[in-house]
Amino acid sequence: MARTTVITECLWCGETHSYGIIRGAGMNQTQPVQCPDCRKHMFINMTIRKALENPDYHDPTWLHEEYHGKNRTMADIAADFGVTPMTINIWLNKLDIPTRSRGHKKTN
Ligand SMILES: [Zn+2]
Repeated sequence: MARTTVITECLWCGETHSYGIIRGAGMNQTQPVQCPDCRKHMFINMTIRKALENPDYHDPTWLHEEYHGKNRTMADIAADFGVTPMTINIWLNKLDIPTRSRGHKKTN
């Protein structure tokens, strides 16, 4: 079983929240969550989660084009997906895409 965070819009009030859901064998395709704003329940479709697990930045061709072709920054790309620049950095390394030196590095 793995805990996954899904960020989705409330069907009822439109507010965007992140929900922790449990993924495991035998789970249904949808999982119920409660909106913290309007307190209404909705179901998160697991196909949405799957899409989030396979974002464009996992694709080496796409990532190379955005980062090198379009000269975008990690932070810029990360913002498109609601992830941290570190996530993009990890995937650049994972996909063997050379990263630009920023002249400063986080040491922690
Ligand atoms: Zn709501």
